[in-house]
Amino acid sequence: MAKYCGPVCRLCRREGEKLFLKGERCYTNKCAIERREGAPGQHGKGRQAFSDFKVQFREKQKVKRIFGMLEKSFRKVYEKASTSKGVTGTELLVNLERRLDNIVYRLGFGASRRLSRQLVSHGLVQINGRPVNIPSYQVKVGDVVEIRERNKKDMGIAASMLAAESRVIPEWLALDKNAVKGTVNALPSRAQLSQSVNEQLIVELYSK
Ligand code: SF4
Repeated sequence: MAKYCGPVCRLCRREGEKLFLKGERCYTNKCAIERREGAPGQHGKGRQAFSDFKVQFREKQKVKRIFGMLEKSFRKVYEKASTSKGVTGTELLVNLERRLDNIVYRLGFGASRRLSRQLVSHGLVQINGRPVNIPSYQVKVGDVVEIRERNKKDMGIAASMLAAESRVIPEWLALDKNAVKGTVNALPSRAQLSQSVNEQLIVELYSK
């Protein structure tokens, strides 16, 4: 499975906003966005020209990076959204939210989506009692996502859950902290998803 292995704070600086890729560090004043101005690289602080294409492209890159995806897999999610009955942009965001690594992150079992992906691919996560090690697996309403029994007391997972108490668990998920498991009660509506994303720009970019 291909993935980006470079410095992640650089991605936030490129997009000019916090993408929360590094777990707890993102909530401290060590965050690179707080400490360093401008995009990375020699010309990062220079004046930027913004064409329509560039604005659309940057929005797509931002969302792709939030979910830790490469172009090919992101494009696949888009293609699936574009053939569904709903609004393409909303379907795209909902399908991204339904990824198993994202659900593990949202429930607080992993400090970041990247660490949550590791929990999934290392086989620590079960759905409805069965192990699933595919980070892109799309959860369904009623699915119970939990850490497998022998890892429920892992220090790293406990620390992530403690730190995640400051994050809000989305209302479409229900967390049972003691059992280290969560239930997907519903799929999110657009209003329950990030308001800082303009998905229409991504639709416009891919529709060209
Ligand atoms: Fe982004 Fe987190 Fe790094 Fe800040 S600490 S730049 S939010 S990855």
